[in-house]
Amino acid sequence: MRLDSEIINSLGDIVGKDNVLMARESLEPYSHDETPGLSHLPDVVVKPKTAEEISKIMKLANEKEVPVTPRAGGTGLSGGAVPWLGGILMSFERMNRIKEIDTENAMAVVESGVIVQNLEEEAAKYGLFYPPDPASLDSCMIAGNVAECAGGARAFKYGVTRNYVKGMEVVLPQGEIIRLGGKLIKNVTGYSLMDLIVGSEGTLAIVTEVILKLLPLPEAKIDLLIPFNSIEQAVNTAVKIIKSGIVPATIELMEREAIKASERYLEKKTPFSDAEVHILVELDGKKENIEKEYEILGELALENGAIDVYVAEDKGEQDRVWEARRAISEALKSKSEIDHEDVVVPISEIPNLFRNLKELEKKYLLKIVCYGHVGDGNIHVNVLKETMEEKKWREIIPKLVREIFDIVVQRGGMISGEHGIGLAKKAYLPLALDSAQIELMKRIKIAFDPKNILNPGKIFDI
Ligand SMILES: Cc1cc2nc3c(=O)[nH]c(=O)nc-3n(C[C@H](O)[C@H](O)[C@H](O)COP(=O)(O)OP(=O)(O)OC[C@H]3O[C@@H](n4cnc5c(N)ncnc54)[C@H](O)[C@@H]3O)c2cc1C
Repeated sequence: MRLDSEIINSLGDIVGKDNVLMARESLEPYSHDETPGLSHLPDVVVKPKTAEEISKIMKLANEKEVPVTPRAGGTGLSGGAVPWLGGILMSFERMNRIKEIDTENAMAVVESGVIVQNLEEEAAKYGLFYPPDPASLDSCMIAGNVAECAGGARAFKYGVTRNYVKGMEVVLPQGEIIRLGGKLIKNVTGYSLMDLIVGSEGTLAIVTEVILKLLPLPEAKIDLLIPFNSIEQAVNTAVKIIKSGIVPATIELMEREAIKASERYLEKKTPFSDAEVHILVELDGKKENIEKEYEILGELALENGAIDVYVAEDKGEQDRVWEARRAISEALKSKSEIDHEDVVVPISEIPNLFRNLKELEKKYLLKIVCYGHVGDGNIHVNVLKETMEEKKWREIIPKLVREIFDIVVQRGGMISGEHGIGLAKKAYLPLALDSAQIELMKRIKIAFDPKNILNPGKIFDI
């Protein structure tokens, strides 16, 4: 149903009139995330401050059968926060308190709207470390990371968001407020509803507060930017590093077009940017250990065809290298319309995947630029439209994407490693999951949300 004045007035009573937006120009920023080509205006934006307010909104939405789309930082790359059916867009920007850094238990308690980088910086003040580091960490929020089970460069050594979520407060679609888990390292008390909610893309429950495990802050880090003249050499070196027994925090890969786009976008030079491909290895830990490790990995890279090894030891150099890496996504988008995929394969299949992608590039006469987390098999595949005629692009892309996903699945991989299914990939879900799994997921969705009002139309249609 459309939102009538009675519903709007009730929302104003719950969150305060100033926290209800209706004007078209105020709604526009909430109509899209960072996924190209997907947008839809909500009917209204609400900005609650507490779980109790959210509970009241959900009871109202249930009664009136109004769709509710949760939105955190709006950096998603699968359209998860796009209010596809209109209705209420719920923004967590006012729920941005880091409530506690508990040094005794090494846990943080944060509200859903905390920016990930702010948590990382706050934890560091106490000698503690929150490892998940999506490249969007300066603008994405904890709730968005939990809902997508975000990864990041450091996932190779430290795992993904799921590995750090120990407890949460959530509001269920019908308005009940429940607490799951706690400041606990172990817990097998009943089904882990918490694990089900992590990665559920805002379709099962609204996350209002999260308890996150923290680690001791590593004493030091060193980054190695290693250029190669061929993708095979770079990928084989990455695989050899993985087998070497040394565990870097990150092993990232960036093809030349990605680095060049980032250089142009930032207007800053990167060393050896003419090289075909770079890998970026970060070592962290005790200073004397990582100094020995980087010598070993530097030699290993040179023996396997590296042109050079650029060592970023001080913070300024490290920030420059990572700025270039983190800008790639935006830089490619500013260069050409792109189709962005986020596939994941077993590490042993990475060289084969790259070979297949090069074959597809020739077959479809489209440039495919890859970068991403080669250490954990999660490769961001970007198909560039460049000067291709719009009609032809629209015809080709679904076929090409299907071919990429078929290859990935045949190689034991999955169609999304960290960005989720959302709207963008839902047509392709049956390529990766069999119908029995999808049906079970739908039954879980309906058990949580009988009227299908929470983020409807995401992952699959009911
Ligand atoms: C430049 C760039 C780099 C990126 N790099 C990475 C990367 O390295 N690793 C990675 O994993 N991702 C990356 N991403 C994708 C994106 O940043 C992540 O998916 C991130 O987790 C989204 O967080 P967000 O706060 O922006 O969430 P949003 O985009 O606002 O929402 C994401 C999902 O969470 C749901 N949601 C929001 N709030 C709640 C809530 N309170 N309760 C329940 N559900 C909720 C939404 O409905 C939506 O389905 C990148 C994106 C960009 C633009």
